[in-house]
Amino acid sequence: MRLILLGPPGAGKGTQASGIMNKYNVPHISTGDIFRKNIKEGTELGKKAKEYMDQGLLVPDELVVNLVKDRLTEDDCKKGFLLDGFPRTVAQAEALDIELNNLGWSLDKIINIEVSKDILVERAVGRRICKNCGATYHVKFNPPKISGECDVCGGQLYQRDDDNEETVAKRIDVYQNQTAPLINYYKEKAILANIDGYNDINKVFDDIVEVLGSEN
Ligand code: ADP
Ligand code: AMP
Repeated sequence: MRLILLGPPGAGKGTQASGIMNKYNVPHISTGDIFRKNIKEGTELGKKAKEYMDQGLLVPDELVVNLVKDRLTEDDCKKGFLLDGFPRTVAQAEALDIELNNLGWSLDKIINIEVSKDILVERAVGRRICKNCGATYHVKFNPPKISGECDVCGGQLYQRDDDNEETVAKRIDVYQNQTAPLINYYKEKAILANIDGYNDINKVFDDIVEVLGSEN
């Protein structure tokens, strides 16, 4: 299955991605995760991306598009993929269409997770991530059993640099101006499914499975 997860920052894309990846046996490709890994490793790409990420701005299209193109040619993508956080602009979506066309592939579904702005800020600011395995928690909505410690691997939890109120507000603005137009872009292609992301994590997952079908 070839899927895209669309939605504003804090909507629950990463959280749902892990369930989708397991159920449908597709690799989870998060451009944000790839940038954070590059920042941690101190690569040139990481240095460039950090300048934009710290301000809540989008990393320039050409950097992101090439990265995703390369990733899609890796072997594991032959069985499908789940893109999370890409595309984020119409130019990125158009570049993806061209690349998929070159590969002879098409998209099966765009899962658009809808959540209102007031909730997004609380979700993003309370987000905590495991340094070791990347599992995502929330201090209030999905807390770990032991505060600051990952349930899965015991790793230390951290807060992303860009998950502060000011940067989250900026990221939501950027989403509304640059990413939300993709909803119409994909609606016209008739492959968009809207999911109510306000519900609890399990209900959101059940609704996604209903759209994708229980066969994997
Ligand atoms: P995104 O990848 O869209 O930015 P995440 O999946 O990281 O969002 O979720 C943002 C925060 O909200 C995390 O702390 C996560 O635990 C929490 N969260 C995700 N989905 C829900 C939900 N349905 N209800 C409450 N909290 C949620
Ligand atoms: P995310 O982890 O998806 O919340 O992304 C974190 C940050 O990484 C964003 O605020 C952007 O600065 C950058 N980023 C991730 N994906 C993209 C993309 N497709 N296009 C541009 N910037 C991106």
